[in-house]
Amino acid sequence: MRKLYLLLLLLSGTVTLCAQSRLPESPGHSVSAQFASIVSKTRQWLHRYYNHPFDGQRLMSDSLYEKWRTHELVEDTEHPSKYLIIITLDGLRWQEVFTGANDTLLRAEAGKPEWEQWTQQHPVQNREALMPFLWNEIATNGQIHGNREKGSQVGVTNNMRISYPGYNEIFTGHPDDRHIKLNFKIPNPNQNVLRSIGREKNFRGRVASFASWDVFPSIFNQEKGGMYINAAFETESGVAFSALNAQLNTVERRWGSRVRPDSLTAAFALEYLRQASPRVLHIGLGETDEYAHEKKYLDYLKAAQSNDEMIRRIWDFVESSPVYRHKTTLFITTDHGRGNKADTWHKHHTWVQGSDEIWFAVMGPETAPLGEIEGGAPYFQNQFAQTFAGFLGLKYDADQPVGEKIVSLLGGGSTHLTER
Ligand SMILES: [Zn+2]
Repeated sequence: MRKLYLLLLLLSGTVTLCAQSRLPESPGHSVSAQFASIVSKTRQWLHRYYNHPFDGQRLMSDSLYEKWRTHELVEDTEHPSKYLIIITLDGLRWQEVFTGANDTLLRAEAGKPEWEQWTQQHPVQNREALMPFLWNEIATNGQIHGNREKGSQVGVTNNMRISYPGYNEIFTGHPDDRHIKLNFKIPNPNQNVLRSIGREKNFRGRVASFASWDVFPSIFNQEKGGMYINAAFETESGVAFSALNAQLNTVERRWGSRVRPDSLTAAFALEYLRQASPRVLHIGLGETDEYAHEKKYLDYLKAAQSNDEMIRRIWDFVESSPVYRHKTTLFITTDHGRGNKADTWHKHHTWVQGSDEIWFAVMGPETAPLGEIEGGAPYFQNQFAQTFAGFLGLKYDADQPVGEKIVSLLGGGSTHLTER
C-alpha cells in the first residue's frame, strides 16, 4: 500500500514537471486551469483512497502551487459558507464561558504558587480575560448561545452525559444510549455527518479531524472512510509536519498515550489547513476535561484560556487566507457540562446535576451577528449535525433519526456578505 502510494506520488510529480516544462513564461489561462484541475483531482483521489494529505507545496514550484490554490478557490462558489471549522472543547462548562472564573473555586486553590500572579493578570470574574477571542471577535461578529442566567438554554439529549455519547450526539445527530454508554473504543454504529459530507461531490477527500483524544477514530468510525482522522500521538506525513512530528514524539505524556497536548493538536490542524485546504475540519481539544477531573481549577481555567488563543490563531489564518477568508463558518461547542456546585464541578455523568448543560458559539457568512443570545427557544446537541450540513448548503440524510437544524443560525446574513 505504502509503495503504491509512493509510486503515485512520483507519478503526479512527473506529471507536474512535464506540465511545468510545457507552460510558457506567461501561461495561458486554459493551460494552467487544466493543469490545476488535474492536480486537484489527483489530490482528491490520493486523499480519498489513501487517507493521505496531498503535499502540493513539495511537488510544485511556488508559482504553480499558487495557481493550484487559485483554482481550488474558484471551483465552486454557489454557497456563501464554503468551509466549516468545528472546534470542540471537552467538558468546558457554560458557567466559566459566560461568567468567567468562579471566585469560590479559584480561592480554594489560593495555596498554589502561581495563583497570585495569575489572578492579578486575569481579573477572576472577567470572561473577556478568560476567553478574549470568544468575547471580542465572536460576540461582535457571531452568536454565543447557552447562558442560562440570561435564559438561553442549550442541552444534551443523551442520558450518559459523558464524552463519547456527547461527541456521538454532536456528529451523528442522534443520542444513542443503547449502544454508546461509555468511553470505550467501540466503532460507532451510527452514520455521522462528517463522513456523509466527505462523500459529497466537491468535498471528497476534504473532510478531516485532528483531535487530542485517542477515542476519536472510534467515534468517527475511521474504518468506514469518508474522512481523514489524526488523533492523539499519530504523526503526519509530509515535510511540512516534520518539526511537529518531532515535538509529538518527544513531548511529555502527561496523560499517557490517551491524550496529547492541545497545543500540538491545534498546531497540526493549522498546518493541515495550510497544506490540504480541507472543506470541513474538526479540531477536538481535551485538556479542560482532564484538568477538571484532577480537580485542578486553575489549570482548567488556563486550558480554557489557551484553547481560546489557539482558536484565535486558527481564525487569524482563516482571515489571512484567500481560500478561507469570508467563506468559512466557525462553530465551537462542548460534549457535555459538569456539576454545577462547588463540590461537583469537576465531574459529570447521568446523576451529576448540570452535566447536560452545554453551550455553543458560531460565526460565519451564514450567521447573523447577534452576539450573546438572551432567552429564546432551547437548543439541543442532536441538532448540531444537521446544522453543520446546513452551513454548507447540504442536507444530512442519515439512517437514524436526527435532530432538526437550527434555522436561526442560517441565512441570517452578515457584514461579510457584501465582500464575497
Ligand atoms: Zn470527562
